[in-house]
Amino acid sequence: MNEMSKEYAIGIDLGTTYSCMAYLDEEGSPVVEKNFEQEDTTPSVILFNENGEIIVGSPAKDMAMMYSMERVVTAIKRQMGQTGPEVDVEIDGAVYTPVSLSAAILKKMINDFNDNHGTDIKKAVITCPAYFGQLERDATKNAGMIAGLEEVTIINEPTAAAISFGLGGGVEGRKRVLVYDLGGGTFDVTVLEIEGNSFTAVATDGERLLGGKDWDAELIKIIKRKIMDEYGVDESEFDSDDDVKQNLILDSETIKKRLSSAESTKGTLTVGGRKAVYTVTREEFEAETRSLMDATLEKMDSALSSKGFSMGDIDEVILVGGSSRMPQVKAGISAKYPSANLRLFDPDQSIAKGAAIFAGTHNWNLREDMEDAEKKGEEYVPAAGEIVVHNVLSQTFGIKAVYDDTSAEMISNIIFRNEKLPISSIKTYYPVDDGQSSIMVEIYESAANNVEGERRIELVEGCPVGDFEMTLPEGVTKNTPIAVKFTATDEGILIASADCLGSHKEYQLQNRLQMSDSEIQKSRGLVEKVQRA
Ligand code: AMP
Repeated sequence: MNEMSKEYAIGIDLGTTYSCMAYLDEEGSPVVEKNFEQEDTTPSVILFNENGEIIVGSPAKDMAMMYSMERVVTAIKRQMGQTGPEVDVEIDGAVYTPVSLSAAILKKMINDFNDNHGTDIKKAVITCPAYFGQLERDATKNAGMIAGLEEVTIINEPTAAAISFGLGGGVEGRKRVLVYDLGGGTFDVTVLEIEGNSFTAVATDGERLLGGKDWDAELIKIIKRKIMDEYGVDESEFDSDDDVKQNLILDSETIKKRLSSAESTKGTLTVGGRKAVYTVTREEFEAETRSLMDATLEKMDSALSSKGFSMGDIDEVILVGGSSRMPQVKAGISAKYPSANLRLFDPDQSIAKGAAIFAGTHNWNLREDMEDAEKKGEEYVPAAGEIVVHNVLSQTFGIKAVYDDTSAEMISNIIFRNEKLPISSIKTYYPVDDGQSSIMVEIYESAANNVEGERRIELVEGCPVGDFEMTLPEGVTKNTPIAVKFTATDEGILIASADCLGSHKEYQLQNRLQMSDSEIQKSRGLVEKVQRA
């Protein structure tokens, strides 16, 4: 095999603030790939310079100060899965979607890898938060395709961290772990059962808008308050100056990191023509951010209680994500759960490494092989050593229904989050009118739990994700049952069907962000301008 055709097992952690890429070396051990700048992680920052070039990573972060804020894109992961003008970025007449912006980050990492290894990688495992819904997963996959990959498999970040922990850390027997993943922009908590090569998620929860960036924002408030008090600077002087704003964003992150190892630290900021020097203590920072920390503890609690677990049922709590380095994380968890067995585990790299380990054993034809097995009435048997991942459904799915008791339109939930995949459930509905000719099945996604009071929820609590129309046979009455069946596959793909008096209609939830080959090609053109190292 020559070097050009060598296939690497690649895992990519596409993070909100930092991204990381790992591959398996000759011995099959995961190794983090250093980018062109010789860093283990690449800031997920994109800069569009005046020459029409797209710069990604530390150079973009470093040069951000010299450009107007519109030319610098950060935290794009928070917009994944959304579409439309509010989330698109228009620069020099070209429109970039969150998908193509994420593709730019991936492309930089892939370019760096290809240049370093003299190869042209076409397959990768990319991670996403466990609670990402179908749209966000599809968006992530599409970003990989636009970045030039031909095959992309998505796995959950906590599962990847658990793989790295389980297979790299020598888990013996069966272990139940809780992965607490506090990254730059997202928070994820997942309970997994590890046994040999099998990783089964049993409960997951998270907050898409909670991460290190929020701690930075609180620190900015502290810094501003101190400078206002000590130097008599007016609030408007911070807000009217883009340079000051950018400096505060960059400095707050640096100071936050310093406060992870020092009890107090100093900083300077030039604002309103004056150079201010300020001191921030860890105690002040922790007091200001207590509610953020508490929010993560609440999510931890709800993930545990959704399965009736207490901390005594958890063998180990694995802390991953860069923000887990903040001392308040360990202290906060220990205070709430004194019996917790905590371990800070390779916080910046475990997800990418776990994804690479998974890529190394992954059957890239899994879907076809599973379908073939099903056709033959057999069960798919993984190859020896193949890592088997079982997930829980990350979202609850239901349909819009009119309730007789209130005549109100509500979401009637059918399959629920945190139920082990694959799952299937049937609910019976009835036509509203005698002789009704058709029904519209409108599918909603939400975060509802399978508990009394959440099986039926208000429309505004869910998000419409798809619909299909079914023609009803003649002669239906208000009393003719219509059986609506929802099935979620191993991968969490939803298949809905409706049956009424022998009529049957099936619908697979469409990838609403499905991009045709030509659309992918067109978007590839957009990110071609990502600078090659
Ligand atoms: P990740 O998305 O997992 O790479 O996490 C990145 C986040 O971790 C960013 O918000 C960083 O500011 C934060 N982070 C990295 N190192 C530290 C540290 N030593 N102390 C506090 N936060 C950190």
